[in-house]
Amino acid sequence: MSENIYCYHCGRHHPKEEMRQVESKAGKKWRCIKSIEATKRGIAERDAFGKQVTAINSSKQREMLKAALNPELKAAR
Ligand SMILES: [Zn+2]
Repeated sequence: MSENIYCYHCGRHHPKEEMRQVESKAGKKWRCIKSIEATKRGIAERDAFGKQVTAINSSKQREMLKAALNPELKAAR
């Protein structure tokens, strides 16, 4: 017999083996491993997407910077 614990994330009860106690502002709460992993994956995907956008932005900025600096460099020589 496994004990079921209320998961605040799903609003359902899960077996204790699938649960982890997490700290929140309101105190300690129980949350299932599945929902924790799903959130972690979601954050990782968002991070990867954010990095992609940052890389695109910085390469565009480099191009613009090069274009802006090159005439000056030529003029200085
Ligand atoms: Zn859950």
